[in-house]
Amino acid sequence: MARLRKDWPSVAEFARMEASPSFRAPCQVVGGVTVFCEPATWPKTRDLERLASGPWRVAVGIHPSRAEAMTSDDWVRFGSILGSPRVRALGEVGLDFLREPCKRSVQQPTLRQTLAFASCRKPVVLHLRGSPSKELATEPHRLALAEAKKFCGRQQPFHIHCCSFGFAQMSEWMREFPNTCFGYTGPSLNSKQVSGLRCLWLTEPNRLLLETDTPYLRSGVDNSGCNLPSCLGGVATYIGGVQRVKPARLLQETLKTGERFYSAEVR
Ligand SMILES: [Zn+2]
Repeated sequence: MARLRKDWPSVAEFARMEASPSFRAPCQVVGGVTVFCEPATWPKTRDLERLASGPWRVAVGIHPSRAEAMTSDDWVRFGSILGSPRVRALGEVGLDFLREPCKRSVQQPTLRQTLAFASCRKPVVLHLRGSPSKELATEPHRLALAEAKKFCGRQQPFHIHCCSFGFAQMSEWMREFPNTCFGYTGPSLNSKQVSGLRCLWLTEPNRLLLETDTPYLRSGVDNSGCNLPSCLGGVATYIGGVQRVKPARLLQETLKTGERFYSAEVR
């Protein structure tokens, strides 16, 4: 999964780049989700066919860091792009109380307004980050779940991106929305986030998605090098280490999960 800007290399170019040696584990990038969640980067209708071709899926959203900048024209444009069958998912949307790029008082109504566009036919990719004093995303979880219950049906597929839920949060979310998958990157969690690591350990392959968040998060647990789709091998090594599963097997199983989650329409 990658979040892109217009002036950066294309998805295909990113996919061809090699990960840094410290985080290079065998893996072949065969597709993924490209995320456009800043109004300035939303694709034009004429570009969607190219962007959504082959194994790449397109998601369009409003990142919490852009909540304050939304204009009424942006909302009209958002509804129109999202209506395209080429756009496979709504996201990223969410709440970021860690960096707090926009006031919380703006982030929450923007999330609410965005979720009003949700449809069971398209997964919603949620970005939820807790405040620096809290280990996990407890408060964003509580607020986002309350909003999701107002606007989304029980069958709504959710992708909790770069997940930092604890066990209680994961269970509560799954109870309300059983079609949820949990995405992890190498540095999603650190060794001190025991509840989060326990969650990762318990996440079954049919609910697990591997992410790099290219090009935002730096690669790997050693925080070195540039983050690229080819770092997925390293992500699989890290997560496989937590789950005691061989990276190759994890890559195979999570590929199936990603294909199912982002290909089939949920009815
Ligand atoms: Zn994010």
